[in-house]
Amino acid sequence: MVNFNNDFLVKEIKRRLSIINLIEGYTSIKKTGKGYVALCPFHDDHTPSMHVDEEKGLFHCFSCGAGGDMLGFYMRYNGLTFPEAVSDLAKRANITIEKSTPPVKGDSQTSNLFKLNSAVSGFYHRVLLESRKGGSARDYLEKRKIPSDVIEEFRLGYAPDGWDTLVKFLKKHNIPPSLAEKLGLVVKKQSGDGYYDRFRNRVIFPICNVEGKVIGFGGRRIKESDEPKYINSPESEIYHKRKNFYGLDSSKDHIRKNKRAIIVEGYTDFLSLFSAGIKNVVATLGTSLTRDHVVTLRRYTDRIVVVFDGDESGVKAAVRSLDIFLEEGLLPGVVILPEGSDPDSFLAEKGTEAFYKLIDEAPTLLDFYIDNTVNEYKNGAVTLNSGVKEIADVLVKVNDPILRSSYIRKTAEKLGLGENEVLSLVRRGKVHGQTGGVKTVKAHSNHEKLMLNILLTYPELSRVVAEEGWEGCVSNPDVMSILEEIIVKGVHDMSSLLLSFQGSAAQGLISEALMSSPGISDGGTASKMIMSCIKKLKLAKLDERLKSLRLSINDAVKNKDAELEKRLLTEYTDLRKQK
Ligand SMILES: [Zn+2]
Repeated sequence: MVNFNNDFLVKEIKRRLSIINLIEGYTSIKKTGKGYVALCPFHDDHTPSMHVDEEKGLFHCFSCGAGGDMLGFYMRYNGLTFPEAVSDLAKRANITIEKSTPPVKGDSQTSNLFKLNSAVSGFYHRVLLESRKGGSARDYLEKRKIPSDVIEEFRLGYAPDGWDTLVKFLKKHNIPPSLAEKLGLVVKKQSGDGYYDRFRNRVIFPICNVEGKVIGFGGRRIKESDEPKYINSPESEIYHKRKNFYGLDSSKDHIRKNKRAIIVEGYTDFLSLFSAGIKNVVATLGTSLTRDHVVTLRRYTDRIVVVFDGDESGVKAAVRSLDIFLEEGLLPGVVILPEGSDPDSFLAEKGTEAFYKLIDEAPTLLDFYIDNTVNEYKNGAVTLNSGVKEIADVLVKVNDPILRSSYIRKTAEKLGLGENEVLSLVRRGKVHGQTGGVKTVKAHSNHEKLMLNILLTYPELSRVVAEEGWEGCVSNPDVMSILEEIIVKGVHDMSSLLLSFQGSAAQGLISEALMSSPGISDGGTASKMIMSCIKKLKLAKLDERLKSLRLSINDAVKNKDAELEKRLLTEYTDLRKQK
């Protein structure tokens, strides 16, 4: 197999191809004084917001935050995985990839993990189909109306009731249990030697990456008294639930063809839809939607409909996901199912046509959010003041000015306010960074970004930063993982760094940092600035802690808990001194 983690190959592609020529093939691009600007194809762009730097080989859209190198652009635009993109661009650059490139050491470990998962998935699948033990699982799937071709396509399986079914299988095939432990398939016994099976008496859903390789497993109980209802593989070297969807390997072509993707909340919902012939669907894996999810999905389409269960937690999840979509410049539709139903029961009761109708008529997530807040105000759950402020805080994040003003108008109408009243709140949010809480978050993130920016230009400052104890003060998880790569793993080369974050939202942060010049002329100034960033971030953290301590102290006083009060006060005074 081709070794795609080959830094050299990627560098060679970048050396031979021009990012300007590549992007020119997809959108209009023109030269300005210093560089190039293009209409961003990743959001509805009216002014050229995408900047392209030929020398650095980077693009970045300062409106929607999309960014990266030519591979990142090509992957995202064409909806490809990294190996697919490398293979295409290598061809375009006239590079022949040696089929016999030996895999490097790290890769063979990963490929062993994939092989093991594939063997285990085959084992569970055979147990489901062929053994007497699989009867209850077969009954369950029949009851859920999952036909045999779907069981086959998704290689559904059954983990028998018992502590060592898989352990024995591993032994028979001379597979070290420690390898299976890395994937969470077996668990080390607390006392004594040996391992036991994680999945027992459960229907098994192999979870695949977009290339169709098994990265983990989900297990659903058969006996209603077993807890919990679902068990999933723990995070591992190859399984990251925040980055992967269930089913995307099978549904990606349907999504492309339909030009629309439906997101549901779990693999059983997914399979109900898929079995009913609605195949342009993906499911999250027991986690709320993340930015990485959205970035992955938009490779295939930017028309997305999110489906939530008809209960309070569904509404909350819908509201939470709004920010993530807005950050990516997307506005999905949202379906909240009637109270008490999930996709499976809805399909069973109302049928496929009714489901399609819901999808076709889905309001945008923003409309839903505004209506939801307006209703809260009408029910007396929030005041008019805080309701309109909440909505204004969200509208600030809508990048498209035309769309934003149409929503400002709608909000004003629904709340019976003048358009100007809403508009001024949105403007104030834009200029001042909103209310206290949001403002601190913003200020934090600016210092975090500046720190990233300086380190990317002066990676030799890593040592200084490491000694300063930077870990505690960074809150943005993307910034955190990039800094880790630079400081802890010592990846100082820009191309390698981008490679580590291929296909992830973090690439946009790297391109942003590299393309916005902080105007620092020498290492000495850079060093001073980065120290001041760390200091400010630490102070902000300290302030946060002091604030929460003050609240806890008030509570302790109210509850007359003198001992707690004393302890908190001591911490408070110490921190004040530190400050
Ligand atoms: Zn953009």
